[in-house]
Amino acid sequence: MKKVGLILGLLVLTAAIYGSSGAPVPGKVEPQRIRWKGQVIKVAISTSLTRSNPNIKVDSDVIAAIRRSLAAWQNVADIEFQIDISDKQGVSPSGVAGDGVSLITIASTPENVLLFNKDAETVSAKTRVFYNRKGFITEADIVLNPFQQFSTDGAYGTFDLQSTLTHEIGHLLGLKHSGVLGAAMSENLGKNTSADTMDFESRVLSDSDVAAVRDLYGVDDEACCQAVSGKLTLLSGKGAKNLKVWAEELETGRVMAQVDVDADGNYRLGGLTQGSYKLFWKVKNGPGRSTSSELDTVDVENHDLKPATQKINNEPTKIILDYIGTNSQLAESVVAVTRGREQTVYLGGKNLDADSISIDFNSPYFRIVSSSLTGQDFGPDISVISFVVMVDKAAPRGVYSIFAADGNGAKAALIGALKVQ
Ligand SMILES: [Zn+2]
Repeated sequence: MKKVGLILGLLVLTAAIYGSSGAPVPGKVEPQRIRWKGQVIKVAISTSLTRSNPNIKVDSDVIAAIRRSLAAWQNVADIEFQIDISDKQGVSPSGVAGDGVSLITIASTPENVLLFNKDAETVSAKTRVFYNRKGFITEADIVLNPFQQFSTDGAYGTFDLQSTLTHEIGHLLGLKHSGVLGAAMSENLGKNTSADTMDFESRVLSDSDVAAVRDLYGVDDEACCQAVSGKLTLLSGKGAKNLKVWAEELETGRVMAQVDVDADGNYRLGGLTQGSYKLFWKVKNGPGRSTSSELDTVDVENHDLKPATQKINNEPTKIILDYIGTNSQLAESVVAVTRGREQTVYLGGKNLDADSISIDFNSPYFRIVSSSLTGQDFGPDISVISFVVMVDKAAPRGVYSIFAADGNGAKAALIGALKVQ
């Protein structure tokens, strides 16, 4: 069997840091739900970004990239950004409150540099969010990593400025990381690789990003902002924690929303448009724990809060799905597929045995080409399989999940891992 290398160098985490007077350990506890109180949000752009800067490729239109990344969110929810240019360079230090100015900066001031003291090599940006006891955000500062290179034209080895800011502005608005691989709020945003893969798709919000921001701020649309909520308990009766819950549109299988359950197993999927959804849950990845299963099918309409509550049997499957790719480069990020074409997809993880596993989708638009499931040798530390998927010509734009079932029918899932553009 051909031996191929595993390249995980593309993995990059961005991070949000929270400071609060309400949290018991300021800066450490990530709150469940925070938002700006009003509709108008003022953002100051540091002159470190408007002046020429060795970290940003010459002739990049920085202001336009910032405006587009703000517009991505403003276009789908009831928020309005007001932009100013500011001489300020450094962000507010951690503490219960900042200076009230929400700054976007790339200056290498001591306070900014301190944010990257552990991960200057891997992280593209960080956002520090301050909020009050009522859960309202009072300030959010975005620092682009002054040790990294940014561009707006897909230049090799640089971070795309607009994609990076689109993600960080999600944090500025109160959004957390998403378990949907194809979401702008997914924590893995890679550097630009080669020109043929540069499509700027990560600048675009996925349906789950849109639902998340609408859940916080609403939108002027009658059909929107419905919610499903519930509680997942173990067979023992205890609340199930460390689970992800997500909603896929019943008709198409597109991933429309995702949340993590709280410590008692409660969840709330909000910002949904009126319609029918199939709900799923999965155990957050961990050793031997990768189980996923269908939860319920619900019709959401007329702002009835639909409860979907269930006792779950999270008996672990041995299958663990961690990575996906289209060739020897596997990563924890979405794979783009083209309508009307057959494409080879690789999955990496643990105990992926091509002889006993079956792959399926909750979507009529994806089909595995028969007998295409094949084991791949990536060395002893990871198990890899590949298969050929046919994407229907009529597949709607969106992101779709992949499920892998073991011989006993227990499943693991990668949420929103395939993206139709
Ligand atoms: Zn992030």
